[in-house]
Amino acid sequence: MTRTGFVTHPDCELHFAGPSHPERPERLVAIVERFASSGLLDELAEHTARPAAASVLARVHTADHIRAVELACLRGRTMLDDGDTYVCAESQRAALLAAGGVVDAVERVVRGEWNNAFVAVRPPGHHAEETHAMGFCLFNNVAIAARHLREQLGLARVAIVDWDVHHGNGTQHTFERDASVFYASLHQYPHYPGTGGSRERGLGEGEGATLNLPQPARSGDSEWLADFEHVLVPALDDFAPEFVLISAGFDAHRDDPLSATRVSEQGFREMTRRLLEVAQRPSRGRIVSVLEGGYDLASLCNSAQAHVEELITYGGSLPQ
Ligand code: ZN
Repeated sequence: MTRTGFVTHPDCELHFAGPSHPERPERLVAIVERFASSGLLDELAEHTARPAAASVLARVHTADHIRAVELACLRGRTMLDDGDTYVCAESQRAALLAAGGVVDAVERVVRGEWNNAFVAVRPPGHHAEETHAMGFCLFNNVAIAARHLREQLGLARVAIVDWDVHHGNGTQHTFERDASVFYASLHQYPHYPGTGGSRERGLGEGEGATLNLPQPARSGDSEWLADFEHVLVPALDDFAPEFVLISAGFDAHRDDPLSATRVSEQGFREMTRRLLEVAQRPSRGRIVSVLEGGYDLASLCNSAQAHVEELITYGGSLPQ
């Protein structure tokens, strides 16, 4: 019996930002096709995402922001308030499914139906702030799931590991004063969105629960894995999360057009493996990984495949 879930929804392909926009529906189509052609799909428990309720979104976002997204789609607007975040009539549905898919996945893992899961949805989430859309992101899918784990499912400590090449400003800001959610990010720096310096370590009671590991342009597997091993893994060991969420962007890949870093498929495989190992004791291997960026279709598929193969290998090896 498979113990790794795979959550997606075909309507996440309806969000369309224009023919030349890198965050395009083909990203999801390609991942699903790759999982099917490689036989990976047969090893996964596939589940169709359901839309998130407004009350679930409201754990992170203001009512004004939730309404603004709805109205922009209803009124046929093509752009939200930030310069690169486009919407179409179906974007709200896609965004509700994206957030809902992550919430579904964490519920199933907490219930013990799955050991871990990969959620392939779009639009992505980690740039979305409490009050506004930003950087291709409408709602902050991973932040919403972390709040759901804390407030609805009663977990005491949740960790978010974000290896998208861009810093997850929205996620950091959501939790920077919250000692119960540990946010760690590896990202190219300096780079969009400009946040994520190593001195940003959280605020007030949350000081120390934010860990930024900025990486220079041209850094690759050896630099990313060294920080992973020597800084991130010990910090996670100290924090002892009950659940680990991954903001799994694959745009740090050397072939990605939106970055200058040189991570390989093997690098993503090794980061996944290391995270599965470190999450074993405190979290009992409970991991939900959520797609963020990744804009070169071939390297996106190769990286997502390597990532999910590790989730399956580890998920299947755990006691049931
Ligand atoms: Zn990114």
